[in-house]
Amino acid sequence: MFKSNKKLIKVSKNKSIRRVYLDNASGTEVDKRILKKIFKVFKENYYNPNTLYEGGYNTKKLLEESRRNVANILGANALEIIFTSCATESNNLAITGYINKIIQNHKFKPHIITTNIEHSSVLEVCKYLEKTNLAEITFLEVENNGIVNIEKLKKSIKKNTVLISIIYANNEIGTIQPIREIAKEIRHYRKKTNNNLLTFHTDATQAINYLPINVEKLGVDLLSFNASKIYGPRGIGVLYKKRTLSLESIIKGGNQEFGLRAGTENVFGIYALSLALNKVEENKEKEIKRLILLRDYFIQKLLKLNLEIIVNGDLKNRLPNNVNITIEKIPSDLIVIELSNYGIYVSEKSACKSGEKKNSYVLEALYGNKKEINSLRFSLGKDTKKEDLDYAISSLSKIFKKLKKWYN
Ligand code: PMP
Repeated sequence: MFKSNKKLIKVSKNKSIRRVYLDNASGTEVDKRILKKIFKVFKENYYNPNTLYEGGYNTKKLLEESRRNVANILGANALEIIFTSCATESNNLAITGYINKIIQNHKFKPHIITTNIEHSSVLEVCKYLEKTNLAEITFLEVENNGIVNIEKLKKSIKKNTVLISIIYANNEIGTIQPIREIAKEIRHYRKKTNNNLLTFHTDATQAINYLPINVEKLGVDLLSFNASKIYGPRGIGVLYKKRTLSLESIIKGGNQEFGLRAGTENVFGIYALSLALNKVEENKEKEIKRLILLRDYFIQKLLKLNLEIIVNGDLKNRLPNNVNITIEKIPSDLIVIELSNYGIYVSEKSACKSGEKKNSYVLEALYGNKKEINSLRFSLGKDTKKEDLDYAISSLSKIFKKLKKWYN
């Protein structure tokens, strides 16, 4: 039984244990104030926003106000905001939509550069374009701290390179890529070669909560994210697309979203996403500071457990909420299950890849694929308190004592 936001789980008639959710990178609980507001919209704005009578007009108004607000926060124009169903769709639209447009308008085979630690919604699209011979792909290897080497990136740009797609912050190890610096190199390259087709996309899904997101300052042409990582609901995403850029829609049908995404708009989701983004921006600076302190406190405590723990990914250029560790000797799925018995929810790999028997491809990118790599991801969030982390540490300590008998 869950009880209120502080969350207690009843494990027997007389006993409740604390519930500690340390898997915010997989999705966040919808903010209660946002929930209340969307319920009102569910009741009052259920009209199709494209109808001409009053209800439709009011719903359309809410939709366009939300679009303007999202644009404002990103430093963009409302015409540059396309609402989709999720970040996966935004990534698909950005990459396939752009490559299809290039193929229609030009007579060469386009080249894409991406990294080997992208989310699967970028990697699989690129692999598909390669398999179907529609594009040539370079999967740039990150360094063993999980960061892109800009010199290597520059060297991999070719005459036919039209798209560079690099994740802003990684969903498993939280490493942050130097997006501004990469954008600067791309601008230089465009100027030097007159290759104005070269376009820069970033998947900002994990970054949106904790990093600068002004698209102008970042220097990106396409940027994707969703609401479910920022205390909004699942099922709603955004693609920012620079106005001068043309894409081919991937979902065909009506003319919604400037003809780029057919289907009646999810106004409830759009409104909630816009509210969630407001909240993120209101609290960002304070929350970053708070979480960095908590994250580093947790890392220090983990290292003191004396278990040959390795922290994966760069320690400095990482999201304030991400702690990803390897404990060499004990299978991580076992620890995830043991922790859940204590009411502590964490993940191994990313939620999208959990349950697969293989190593995480992100950790293989760091360490190679010669041996099995255990990993645990703790992702903190707005409800994480120091006591939660202390509870996680004391629970881990007990779990390790129990499991050590088998794994030593
Ligand atoms: N990109 C990244 C970096 C993510 O973390 C996720 C969600 N795990 C996605 C894309 C896909 O998001 P969605 O579930 O909204 O498709």
